Amino acid sequence: MEFKQKWVYKKTYYPRPTYEFNLPAGHSCPFAKDCKIKVDRHTGKFDTMGKGYRCYAAIAERFPGVRKTRWENFEFVLHGGKIELPKDAKYVRIHSSGDFYNQDYFDQWLKICRENPNVIFWAFTKSIRFWLARINEIPSNLTMIGSLGGHEDHLVLEHKLKHSRVVKSIEEARQYDLPIDNDDTLAMAGKYSFALLDNTKFTLSERQVLTDAHNQYYKHIFDEVYSIIDK
Ligand code: SF4
Repeated sequence: MEFKQKWVYKKTYYPRPTYEFNLPAGHSCPFAKDCKIKVDRHTGKFDTMGKGYRCYAAIAERFPGVRKTRWENFEFVLHGGKIELPKDAKYVRIHSSGDFYNQDYFDQWLKICRENPNVIFWAFTKSIRFWLARINEIPSNLTMIGSLGGHEDHLVLEHKLKHSRVVKSIEEARQYDLPIDNDDTLAMAGKYSFALLDNTKFTLSERQVLTDAHNQYYKHIFDEVYSIIDK
């Protein structure tokens, strides 16, 4: 059987039109903990393991078409497929769903980033060990964000890595003195750690209103990061 890679192109949601390369949530996330959910590839049945918050990416897998696309990508890379960027890619989020499941796969992405120096890449990860193993070899057009809530949080904190923290309220974001990223603007720039509002507790419009007010305190940060993502 021949496996094919499938990209998702999003014109809205992100601050700039962005391609995503996605894998099945949970199944490709060896170090996920608080968020971990696996959706059965064939039946769509949810198996919830994490006790902290719900994996937003998994929720989309209630749709058979989403599961199919993500599993085809997973089969593609597991069978040695070489990922090729869409020709017009300018911004790429590596995994809106899924994670780096081993070192070779992580290294494949480093190579892609090096071969495409004019493309901006970013990735959230709980697979901190693969990142640390290449910490001095991360291409300048790739920003990595340690996603707290996994089995390797201690490594994120110990190595002072840029990170994201899911919070359940604005008060919690204030407590950690973190700006809130609602559309990956801070993730793309990779300069600051940030909070994410638990998006299973708030609608997108609620998040927007709460975030806009909170981020007034961090206006200087946003001014800076827009200049980075548009360079
Ligand atoms: S690491 Fe990301 S994609 Fe994987 S289970 Fe957790 S939230 Fe979902």
